[in-house]
Amino acid sequence: MTKMYINGQWVAAASGCTRTIINPFNQESIAEVAEGNETDTQLAIDAAREAFDKGGWRHMPGSERGKLVLKIAELIERDQQELAELETLDTGKTMTESLADMADIAEVFRYYGGLADKDGGEVIESPIPESRSKVVREPVGVCGQITPWNYPLLQGSWKLAPALAAGNTLIIKPSEITPLTTIKVTELIEEAGIPEGVVNLVLGSGAETGQILAESHSVDLISFTGGIETGRKVMTAAAENFKKIALELGGKNPNIVFADADFETAVDQAMNAIFFHAGQVCSAGARLLVQEELYDDFVEALVERTRHIKLGSGFDDTTQSGPLISKEHREKVERYIEVGVDEGADLVVGGKRPQAEELQSGFFLEPTIFTNCQPSMRIVQEETFGPLLTVERFNTEEEAVQTANDSKYGLAGAVWTTDIRKAERVASELRMGTVWINDFHPYFAQAPWGGYKSSGIGRELGKQGLEEYTEVKHVFENTNPAPLNWFK
Ligand code: NAP
Repeated sequence: MTKMYINGQWVAAASGCTRTIINPFNQESIAEVAEGNETDTQLAIDAAREAFDKGGWRHMPGSERGKLVLKIAELIERDQQELAELETLDTGKTMTESLADMADIAEVFRYYGGLADKDGGEVIESPIPESRSKVVREPVGVCGQITPWNYPLLQGSWKLAPALAAGNTLIIKPSEITPLTTIKVTELIEEAGIPEGVVNLVLGSGAETGQILAESHSVDLISFTGGIETGRKVMTAAAENFKKIALELGGKNPNIVFADADFETAVDQAMNAIFFHAGQVCSAGARLLVQEELYDDFVEALVERTRHIKLGSGFDDTTQSGPLISKEHREKVERYIEVGVDEGADLVVGGKRPQAEELQSGFFLEPTIFTNCQPSMRIVQEETFGPLLTVERFNTEEEAVQTANDSKYGLAGAVWTTDIRKAERVASELRMGTVWINDFHPYFAQAPWGGYKSSGIGRELGKQGLEEYTEVKHVFENTNPAPLNWFK
């Protein structure tokens, strides 16, 4: 049985309860983990509070904290194969994807380890004679960190690394269905020598443990990645003590292809944009907009390639896409397929569970494309979070921008054209946190990531991702104090 990590100790749940973790490829059980509840969460919060208030970690020079964060990066690289295998077992994604995730995760720790001693504050010009003013950044305090199942450790690294580099203490809670890599990285954090109480790991249901983290008056910041409905609950609970919040929520990301785009590359990347990790990606290019002149040829090429996507085990090198994460999630995506049919979109490929014998135990769904979609359709507006692509037509640049922005979401989008001035005009008009020109999906530690509108609040990654974990303090010093004599 795998335990939680609270105040430097590996502990079973106070209740003794455990949860079985399932491999989505074959529904076999892969681990038995502690199932925490309110008691365990409160112990973890108390440990993080004490470790922060004692001050050892937050007063450690940034250069020393940075070395420990860099050490975590080294250990992740050392154990990347094992970590990737755990991620593939737990999520069903291919080993190619999991290994790429682990390389990115090590880079995130390395980037923030390097930033830990770079912000020494600034001296500002004071308008008051004989005085000095400086502005410094300090850690926020105790941070609650809640992560989703689609990128369990990647999303965790975006929170853990900057929080540690900035001198905070924290409690991380992975999704109850995919905790394995977060457990393993917590072992590496312990091995790296992070002091006890600084990092605490709680396992258990979000509705119980996550909700307590969001409500607690002893938690100063909550960083959440997940869906908008849960995000709303977290934001409401966080209002209890007006804690700082960072929300990375869903997306319905437009991928705009103009008629002058490089056809082969745009088709290839449109496939990758949606079918990567079976579409279970917040930034998936699930909403394809194709200019009228190109529409028929583009759809034909996409459909042809989609028919040949090889589904299978993430451990098979020939697999291009794994299963969905769970029975419930596959049913949710299947309901969206029914909605699409009812709304009158054309289901041109996929839409069913695959027939192959070897795929029957996994939560597989055929890669699916709906064409002739309209902006008002639910399958176009809602995050379906599966291998489901909607295709719409547009005529003009203005129409493309207007249609792409017609969404409650604003996470990411892409534009494909060989006219760079047009690309830049469109990029500047899109109301999204990330816009890719002639590409889809790149993200890296140095560039901020986050959403406009209902896709979230705040940024992860980049310098901005570190700033989220700091408070700004102005320290004013009167260098020649004297009485004011106002109330003499
Ligand atoms: P979810 O159902 O919202 O869950 C996210 C996390 O919140 C899980 O750890 C969950 O725990 C926990 N949780 C559940 N109820 C809670 C509550 N009442 N209070 C506090 N925490 C609670 O999302 P998901 O299905 O795991 O992930 C998919 C969503 O994440 C998609 O919408 C996707 O777009 C989004 N996402 C966004 C980004 C981004 O960068 N913007 C990145 C990745 C994913 P349990 O799982 O244990 O219930």
